[in-house]
Amino acid sequence: MKRKLYWRRRDGIGSSVPTLGTGMSDLDSAPPMIERGGLRDVSAQPKLELTPGRTASLGPGTTVRRLLPTLGRRMVGAWCFLDHYGPDELGAGAGMQVPPHPHTGLQTVSWLLDGDIRHRDSLGSDVVLQPGDLGLMTSGHGIAHSEQSPLARPKLLHGTQLWVALPDAARQMDPKWEHHRALPTFTWDGLQVRIVLGEFAGHLAAGTIHTPLVGVDITIPAGVATSIPLEADFEYAAISVYGTARVDGADAPIGSLLYLGAGRRTLAVSAETPSRIMLLGGEPFEERIVMWWNLLGRSHDEIELYRTQWEQHERFPRVPGWAADDRTDAPPLPGGRLKPRGRQR
Ligand code: MN
Repeated sequence: MKRKLYWRRRDGIGSSVPTLGTGMSDLDSAPPMIERGGLRDVSAQPKLELTPGRTASLGPGTTVRRLLPTLGRRMVGAWCFLDHYGPDELGAGAGMQVPPHPHTGLQTVSWLLDGDIRHRDSLGSDVVLQPGDLGLMTSGHGIAHSEQSPLARPKLLHGTQLWVALPDAARQMDPKWEHHRALPTFTWDGLQVRIVLGEFAGHLAAGTIHTPLVGVDITIPAGVATSIPLEADFEYAAISVYGTARVDGADAPIGSLLYLGAGRRTLAVSAETPSRIMLLGGEPFEERIVMWWNLLGRSHDEIELYRTQWEQHERFPRVPGWAADDRTDAPPLPGGRLKPRGRQR
């Protein structure tokens, strides 16, 4: 992986950005097709843009805040989709129930703060993820998976579902499932730090990545105030998953995203009450991508092909344990076509 450094200034995004009216969760009935990526969306300068999440439902009792994409912010490095859900009391309900659905061209990062999720995929993986476990699924050319609250489970469900766009060089690779239980964990000037992906403060996580990026879970005990080291050529965002952390002087309430831009070597973090953030960053993603529903490609035609192949039971093998027709149907494609815009600088 080479570090590259070139930028295009991005202007016109204010400090408060309305969120997109429709998103692309598994349950969206009419997801939009969105083109994104490319350096014109990247701020080379430090920024401080607070974006509240758009609330959606992932089934009875499970509320999701969609933090990316938003109208103003499409990617942070290769991070292209950020959901924060819970904390929710599952009670006697079914909890999270997402039957088999396909993915292409991306990695999914499952990161739990409370509760369990059973993951099954078309490679035959069958794993119950617990808090502190990284579930890293690299779709490559195609994978299908299901995610469910197990029958026997803790009362609370609280976590994040994050997607990373694969670069052209990796997006047709064979699919891969990784389950990492021992993530680098250390304290930094009073902070409790766990590295989910990438490298931070000299510690390297084991999960496979395909562009330079980082994901760090940072617990900030009440009264702690310090600063952490950043890569000046990464762009960053913090998502607040518990409490109200203060990041570069700005309050980040639970369920919000604070876009930080690039060009920072340090970041001030503090909290008056116990708080927790995920710091996500990476080298700006230079390729333009097209994203629709759970599929990521490079053109409308590619997405249409993947959709057709899912509907015809091609490309994506069946997830063992599920009947062939017990799965998520693809929603209809939106009307109109995206015009390919190619690589931009
Ligand atoms: Mn999925």
